[in-house]
Amino acid sequence: MKLTNRSTPIQNKQKTFSEKLYIPILKGMLITISHLFRRKVTIKYPEQTRQFSPIYRGLHVLKRDENGAERCTACGLCAVACPAEAIVMDAEERRPGEEGEYREEKYAKRYEINMLRCIFCGLCEEACPKEAIFLTDRILPAATKRSDFVYGKDRLVETRNNRVDIATRKTYGKE
Ligand code: SF4
Ligand code: SF4
Repeated sequence: MKLTNRSTPIQNKQKTFSEKLYIPILKGMLITISHLFRRKVTIKYPEQTRQFSPIYRGLHVLKRDENGAERCTACGLCAVACPAEAIVMDAEERRPGEEGEYREEKYAKRYEINMLRCIFCGLCEEACPKEAIFLTDRILPAATKRSDFVYGKDRLVETRNNRVDIATRKTYGKE
């Protein structure tokens, strides 16, 4: 039964002389072979990495001050500014003797960023009044479990002896 008029009848067209000699196939193979000698557009990642844009925004860092104390005071402004609702935190009061660990009377006992929600917009960095959170030029590592993308303080706060250099990343209005 014919439902539409869009069908095309098959024609047993005779092969041309060049088609009989497989010239069109040879032309295609020549194009393929010519690509072997062109400059490669791929790189051997992770051994090689491309140079990122100076304004690339990657993995976050929670900074310490010059004395090694955590800058974050758990004010929550970054979480309010975050359009993806990726940041959660619990505030805690600093106890006597913890002055070297936390810069102000309040600190974030729990601070988590869900990297699967994050869109790396940088608004948390803009909102922070304590210069505590920055996006860096580091790449977010791959993982196979969703829970591995929830970054807590153990992975966000920089270590005292291995500070994260944020000067290499240009930020608008902060140059
Ligand atoms: S970079 Fe943007 S989306 Fe990601 S945590 Fe910060 S404010 Fe939220
Ligand atoms: S990172 Fe900055 S904005 Fe966010 S809670 Fe800490 S001090 Fe406040």
